[in-house]
Amino acid sequence: MTDSTAVIDQITDLYQEAFCWYGPKRAVPTIHVSFYPYVGINHTIRLRGGEIFVRIGEICREMPIASHKGLAYILLGKLLGKRIPTGAREVYSKYVKTTEVREKAADNKRVKGRKVVTTSKGAVYDLNEIFASLNAQYFGNTIPKPALTWSAKKTYRILGHHDATHDHIAISSSLDTPNTPHYVVEYVVYHEMLHIHHPTKHVNGRRYNHTAAFKRDEQKFVYYAEAERWVERNVRRLKKDARKK
Ligand SMILES: [Zn+2]
Repeated sequence: MTDSTAVIDQITDLYQEAFCWYGPKRAVPTIHVSFYPYVGINHTIRLRGGEIFVRIGEICREMPIASHKGLAYILLGKLLGKRIPTGAREVYSKYVKTTEVREKAADNKRVKGRKVVTTSKGAVYDLNEIFASLNAQYFGNTIPKPALTWSAKKTYRILGHHDATHDHIAISSSLDTPNTPHYVVEYVVYHEMLHIHHPTKHVNGRRYNHTAAFKRDEQKFVYYAEAERWVERNVRRLKKDARKK
């Protein structure tokens, strides 16, 4: 079919050859080889149903066949629990250590790291947990749970957003770090919950979101003053973090 099929066939032969070298008396099982979009330099080998499955990191697609041979001896040696010949390690690591490959790995990590967050569980804070405890403490569990997510982008001007149409609260992922005190994340979630508690008022064609009643309730948050102060002092830093790649 294509060149890549030919390459895969050629690489598969190397694995069969390496298998024979490690266990000359055993019948060579079916070996499946494919490239897989792992982040960074990663490969896996598994034995399933008597067949061997090899996944080679996409980053090694351009790897010379000699280095593939080295990798075949390394992966099979690990799978079979055999001593890996030094030459195999040398020929493989020689390729991997080249700057080109290392740079590609760094690039991949950057791109993959920017994936869209669709869960409430962030790296540090779990929005579902925070919502549940606020709902119990301040609202007598009367707020119906909206969709809660960390924002994909590290916004700094808008720390939280409530979308009434989609019943969704998004919190800026710039806050999902150990540098942010727990009460600050709580405060931002609390503010957005107040938008559910105090729906937008329409008076003479104008919309009112932060009504006097809203603001009174906002100040009931135990760490209101501390949270306001923290946000005020840290907006500049959040802005800097948001611009970092
Ligand atoms: Zn608001």
